[in-house]
Order: sequence, then structure tokens, then C-alpha cells
Amino acid sequence: MSREKILSNAPNPEDDDPKLRPSRMSEMIGQKRVIERLRIAIEAAKKRKDVLGHILFDGPPGLGKTTFAHCIPNEMDVPVDFLAGPSLKAPKDLVPSLTNLKKHQVLFIDEIHRVPKAVEEYLYTAMEDFRIDLIIGDGINARTHNMKLSPFTLIGATTRAGMLTGPLRDRFQIREHLDFYSLEELTVIVKKNAAKLNIDIDESAASEIASRSRNTPRVANNRLRWVRDYAQSRADGVITAEVAKSALKMAQIDELGLDRQDIRYLETLVRVCMGGPVGAETIAATMNASADTLVDEIEPFLLRTELIMRTPRGRVATVKGHAHLGTEKPADPDPSELFPDSRKEI
Ligand code: ADP
Repeated sequence: MSREKILSNAPNPEDDDPKLRPSRMSEMIGQKRVIERLRIAIEAAKKRKDVLGHILFDGPPGLGKTTFAHCIPNEMDVPVDFLAGPSLKAPKDLVPSLTNLKKHQVLFIDEIHRVPKAVEEYLYTAMEDFRIDLIIGDGINARTHNMKLSPFTLIGATTRAGMLTGPLRDRFQIREHLDFYSLEELTVIVKKNAAKLNIDIDESAASEIASRSRNTPRVANNRLRWVRDYAQSRADGVITAEVAKSALKMAQIDELGLDRQDIRYLETLVRVCMGGPVGAETIAATMNASADTLVDEIEPFLLRTELIMRTPRGRVATVKGHAHLGTEKPADPDPSELFPDSRKEI
């Protein structure tokens, strides 16, 4: 079972499984407050017969940013065009999508924090005034033509809200942070998706899969597919709690839902780097992984479950992080040992 990919431009066919992705907000589970606020904005825009304001979604991968970008255009009854931030190398890469926009259409840019500065600046007038400058011709014959665009809604998604510049962030009228899902919400997602995939699953098995899915729907979908394969190959196709446990054990997913890569991260931090503090780049170099992968994919859940901490001096394994690997966090050094003179009486 492969780890869910987020930083490649190539779409993961499993993530885009149209069977599992909700197409209306009423089918989405959880994120209740976000959905409520979006419904108000959508209803108001529809009443005014106006374009919906630009929306920015931020949060760890797999929590529903792209799903919202599928559902919102359906609610507004408008088309949508999907772009990946890293594939927009220069303003010209944006031009076809911008010039072909239909009235009130949605343009989705995933990983918007990865668009280069020149593309970002090109977006400013497109977002604010619905117009762009087109350069027609070459060299001394080049002319700038100011072109009006159809009013559109830009939906941006980012796993790193902090990397967005102020001017870009400020141009989004609606900004929503997506948080991790509760066990109950994830259990409902697993049961619904099992039904969509025509799999027999009992309540305790759904809860077992949900509890080991890092509070993330994409992970739950991946785990469910693996457990289905296991059930069909090793059992009679029915997913019971026992079958789910055996399948997840075989995939080396522990009871917290950590997979081999999460455990390698913890082991590197605890055993190789003495529990930290250490920079993400050092951990990444030791693991032979990219720092982006660690920061975007691995750390958010380890931080949330309080296995690690982020400090100004770097990453630190917590007492819970040490305990998870069966080691003890070394006691903080006694200051009197560091500065022996301080023990002397004055
Ligand atoms: P992101 O864009 O944040 O990385 P996605 O929107 O691609 O995440 O979500 C990954 C998968 O998780 C989707 O294909 C969908 O099946 C499932 N999913 C995400 N959010 C929800 C939700 N609120 N309810 C049900 N399923 C969801």
C-alpha cells in the first residue's frame, strides 16, 4: 500500500476516484462550520446573481480542499478548471485558463503557495479587477493589450498558509482552515465509502480502520481499499474487526495509525538526533527524504498527537513520542551541572 502522495504534479488515480469523492456539500462529512459559512456565501452570491468571492483553503493534505473545489462549483452550477500551482512556471501558463473563463466559473489552483512570484503578481489584477495584460508580438513590435476577463472565483488550496504572501492572501475574501476529522466522522466516511465500493463491513471494523487513519479522509480511503483487498484475498470478502486488524498489522500500521515512514521519522528524531531539538532539514537528510514531505505529510499529525513539538530551535520528541517507541525522554540537564560555579555559595 503506497503512502498518499501530495507533492507530485501527477494525479494519484486513487485519490481522484470519483466514486468516493463527494460532489455536493450535503454529502461531505464533518467540517460543519466551514460548510455553514460557505453555504451562506453561496446563497448570498446566488441571490445577488453575483460571482462568489475568492476562497482560500488551508490545512494538511487529504482533508478535503480539492473536494470543496469539486462541490462549490456544483452548488453554484458553474464549471471548474483545475490547475496545479507547481505547473504554473510563468504568467503565460495561466493565460489559456483565464481567457477561456465562463461567467462566474471557478478556477482552482492547488498548492498555490508554490506559484512563482511573477505568476502570483499576474493573478493580482485578474483576481481584483478581472483583467490581465496580454503581451502580443515580439521585440520592438510587442504591444501590451489589456483584456477584460469574465468574473470568476479563484479557489486556492495550500498546505502552507504561512508561505503565502500578504498581498495574495488578502485578495481572498473567504479564508477557511480545514482541521483533522474526529473518529466518529471518519467512521461514517469509512462506512459510506465501503457501501460505495460494495464491501461488507461491520461497525467495529469501520471504527478500527477510522482510528488508524490519522484523522484524515484520504488516509481512511487508502486504508479501506487495502483492507478490502486483504479481505477478498485472505478472508471471505467481509471486513470484520479481526480482518481489519490483521490487514493493518500486515501493512505495518500501528494502533495510532502511524505507518513505516512516520515511525522512521520518530526513530530518526529520538534515536539518531537524541530527541532534538533538530531542524527538519537534518531529519530529512538523515531519512533521505525531502523536507517538504516531512513538513507537509508527516509532521502535522505527529504535532497534533503531541508526539513531537516544534520549537524555535527545531523539532523535539515529547515524553509521549519517546514512550511510543518504548524509550524514555532523557531528563533535562541540571543547570548546576552545566554551570558548576553556580553551586558555590556566594
Ligand atoms: P486535499 O485536497 O485537502 O488534499 P481531498 O479533497 O483530495 O484532500 O480529499 C481526499 C479524499 O478524501 C477525497 O477524494 C474524498 O474521498 C475524501 N474526503 C475529503 N473530505 C471529505 C469529507 N468532508 N467527507 C467525505 N469524504 C471526504
